[in-house]
Amino acid sequence: MTTCAAAVVLGLGCRHTPVRVTALRQARPCPVVPVATAEPTPQQTNQQPALSPTAAPPQWVSPTNLSYEGWIDIRQWARDIGIPSPVLAMAGTNCVAHLKFPMGNLDIRLGRHQARWQECELWLAHPPLFIRGQPCVHAQDIQSTLLPLLTDNGQLPVTNRVIVLDPGHGGSNPGARNIATGRWEKEYTLDLALRLKPLLEDQGWTVFLTRTNDSDVTLSNRVAMADALGAGLFISLHFNDANGRAAESGIETYCMTPPGLPSAFVRGPSETPSVVFPNNAHDAANLRVAFRLQRALVSRTSAVDRGVRRARFMAVLRNQSRPAVLVEAGYLSNLRDARLIASPEHRQALAMAIAHALGVPPHF
Ligand SMILES: [Zn+2]
Repeated sequence: MTTCAAAVVLGLGCRHTPVRVTALRQARPCPVVPVATAEPTPQQTNQQPALSPTAAPPQWVSPTNLSYEGWIDIRQWARDIGIPSPVLAMAGTNCVAHLKFPMGNLDIRLGRHQARWQECELWLAHPPLFIRGQPCVHAQDIQSTLLPLLTDNGQLPVTNRVIVLDPGHGGSNPGARNIATGRWEKEYTLDLALRLKPLLEDQGWTVFLTRTNDSDVTLSNRVAMADALGAGLFISLHFNDANGRAAESGIETYCMTPPGLPSAFVRGPSETPSVVFPNNAHDAANLRVAFRLQRALVSRTSAVDRGVRRARFMAVLRNQSRPAVLVEAGYLSNLRDARLIASPEHRQALAMAIAHALGVPPHF
């Protein structure tokens, strides 16, 4: 983020029209009933995507009797916060609402979880919908997903410059296997952490690793280590496995799901969205760090951008008392990704991307 953009977010003035930060922060907690006309105005009608009257409505158009409760009319939201009205356009079979903020562009894809902010993919808890002809985004996503990023002041949300890097797996827990080389995830995560450590130290970080060799470390001990060291930031490093779906590829970065929201990925039979974990105290900071890492990783490698996602099942994150994220830096089960991950040059590029993302002033 540029200094100018940060100034706009903070309402400090700039040549751009400032976003109404107060309105942004008061974006109507769920449940809400946003102001929306039952019949769109002629101008709004022109902005709607063309739908054949005989065709069945696509899945991103809700039944007309669906309540507005919990949903925000995107056009009304844009008016409330003082940005231009969104432009609606078709992209393939999806309708996309393009919103222009002084600090970047936000694409909201109707009917899809994946949104795009500042050229990076971002998972919304609820797929946006057309309700009575109005493009709507869920209030929970405005509050818990979009707002933390739209109000990011460009500084790292950490209380100190002590970081714990967590090379995933180790010892008797090898993790996933590289289909190109037969080597294990635990080897690559340790290699990545060892490459990242000196890069971060050069930037003034004090760096600790949860393991420095091929040893077993329980998830609870990884958290306890960060507690004992008083770490300001925790980053767990992993590589992915799609369980036989060989085409799946790319990088994704996880952080905890805020209370009340559904997760992007549930491991096990179900989850309880109302439960609050210690790391939920850092929901906004988690998302900002995750987004910063994800954007750096996909912009500095040729990886597919799978976006920032949220989940609750990761015990190494949910009991952390500091911002904490988990990077899945490519698929060992995808041949292209697996070959890249096997390359020392690529792993160095991954380390440099993460270091670049953390090479900004902390917020203290
Ligand atoms: Zn793993």
